[in-house]
Amino acid sequence: MADGLRVVVVGAGFSGLAAALALTRAGAQVRLLEARDRVGGRVLTRWLPDATQLDLGAQWIGPTQDRMYALVAEHGLTTFPSAALGAPTVLWGGERRAEPPARGARVLGLLDEYAARLDPTAPWQAPEAAQWDRTLLGGWLRATAGDDDTADYLGRLLAGGLLATGADEVSLLHLLLYLRSAGGTGPLLGMAGGAQQDRIVGGPPALAERMAAALPPEALTLAAPVRAVEQNVDGVTAWTDTGRVNGDFLVVALAPALAGRIRYAPPLPPLRDGLTQRMPMGSALKVHAVYPEPFWRADGLSGVSTSTTGPLTETVDNSTPTSSLGVLTGFSYASDAAVLREMSPEQRRQCLLDAFAAVVGPAAGDPVDLVEYDWSTEEWTRGCFCGALTPGAWNAYGPHLRTPVGRVHWAGTETATRWTGYLEGAVRAGERAATEVLARP
Ligand SMILES: Cc1cc2nc3c(=O)[nH]c(=O)nc-3n(C[C@H](O)[C@H](O)[C@H](O)COP(=O)(O)OP(=O)(O)OC[C@H]3O[C@@H](n4cnc5c(N)ncnc54)[C@H](O)[C@@H]3O)c2cc1C
Repeated sequence: MADGLRVVVVGAGFSGLAAALALTRAGAQVRLLEARDRVGGRVLTRWLPDATQLDLGAQWIGPTQDRMYALVAEHGLTTFPSAALGAPTVLWGGERRAEPPARGARVLGLLDEYAARLDPTAPWQAPEAAQWDRTLLGGWLRATAGDDDTADYLGRLLAGGLLATGADEVSLLHLLLYLRSAGGTGPLLGMAGGAQQDRIVGGPPALAERMAAALPPEALTLAAPVRAVEQNVDGVTAWTDTGRVNGDFLVVALAPALAGRIRYAPPLPPLRDGLTQRMPMGSALKVHAVYPEPFWRADGLSGVSTSTTGPLTETVDNSTPTSSLGVLTGFSYASDAAVLREMSPEQRRQCLLDAFAAVVGPAAGDPVDLVEYDWSTEEWTRGCFCGALTPGAWNAYGPHLRTPVGRVHWAGTETATRWTGYLEGAVRAGERAATEVLARP
C-alpha cells in the first residue's frame, strides 16, 4: 500500500482518470488537475432532441481492448454494436466497387509481417528500424503497391484513418508500431471483430464521469490548467492559475504536444523536450449528417465507405438502435481537412453533402442536421486522433517517451505499448504510470 504517498495527476482524460483510480486504490492521496470544465478529454457526446447519441470524439471499442470493456462493466454501463448492415462501398476514382483491388491486401499483409518484427516497447531496436524510420509511408506505398491508385488509397486508409495524418507526413516505422500495438491491420480496420465493433451506451463521456465519481471527494479539480511543474529532491509542485499543489510524484497524462506546453523547472532534459517538439497531433474533421431515417439501408447499402479521392476518406452508418434517425458520419484527414477548413461554412456544407451523396445517393443532400466538430480548434487537445513522432525521430527521441524525469512520470495514450492512440491505450498507459509511481522508493 502507498498510504501517505501524494501524487499529482495532470489531465483527466481516460489516461489521467485511470492513473488516478489506480493510485487511489493503492492508498495514495491523489490530486487530479484538469484544464477543462469537464473530464474525459478527447471524448464528447452531443444529444439530439430524440436522444440520438452523436459521439463527436472517440466512440468505438473492440475485441482485445480488455481494460475498456472491464471499465464499462465495472461502472455499470453497457455497449451496443456499431451499425454495419448491407454492403460496404469503395469509391475508386470515379468508379463504385464492392471492395478494393486484391493487390491492396498483399500490401497490408506485408505491413503486418513487418510490424510483427517490432518490440512495441522499443521499436528502434529492430534491425530495419532506422531504414523504416527514414522512409515515408507514402513513398513506400508508391514503391510497393504496384500502382498509384492503390498506394493513394492505402495511404488515405492507414495514415488518414488510423493516425489522421498524411501518408507523406509519417514514417513507415511509426505506422508499423501503431499496427504492432493493436495486433495488425485486421483488428485496426475491422468493424465487427475489429476496433470499430462496439459503442458505449451513453457515450464515452458517461464512463469518464463515472470514473471521476469513483475518486475521493476533493481529488478532482476542474478548470485548473497546469502551467508549470517544479521539482526538487523533496517533491514536486504543480502551478495552476489559482495556486499550487504539492506532491511526492507527478503524472503528466497528456499527449506529448500538450505536455510540452507546460513550463518545467528545472527544464526537461533535451531529448525529452525534443520529443515533445517532434510529436504533432493529427488533423481530422469528424462530421455527422443526420437524416429522418437511414434511407441507404433500403438500397442494400451499409453507409460504410472508403474512397480514393474527395474530402471524406471514410464514412460509417452511425445510427443508434434507440432512434429512428439515420446518422452518416464522415472523416476527413490531413490536407483534405485543411482544404475544408479554408472554405466558408456554406461551401464546406455543400462539399460534405456532395461527398455523402457520392456514397449513398442524392437523398444525402438534404439532412435534418449537419454537425461538424474540429478538435484542432480545442486549446486543450489541438488535434486528433493522437500524436505521431515525425520521420527519423524514433531512434534518438523514442526512448524518452515513457522514461520518467526525476519525479515526473508520463502517461497518455501516445505512451501506450498496446492500443496506442486509442481509449484502451490511454487507460493502459495511465495504469502503467501508476504502477511506476507505486514502485518508486
Ligand atoms: C474525433 C476522434 C475520434 C476518435 N475515435 C476513437 C475511437 O473510436 N476509439 C478510440 O479508442 N479512440 C478514439 N480516439 C482517440 C481517443 O480519443 C484518445 O486516444 C484518448 O481519448 C486519449 O486519452 P488521453 O487521456 O491519453 O488524452 P486526452 O483525452 O487528451 O486527455 C488529456 C486531458 O488533459 C487535459 N489537459 C490538457 N492540458 C492540460 C494542462 N496543462 N493541465 C491540465 N489538464 C490539461 C485535457 O483537457 C484532457 O482532458 C478518437 C479521438 C478523436 C478526437
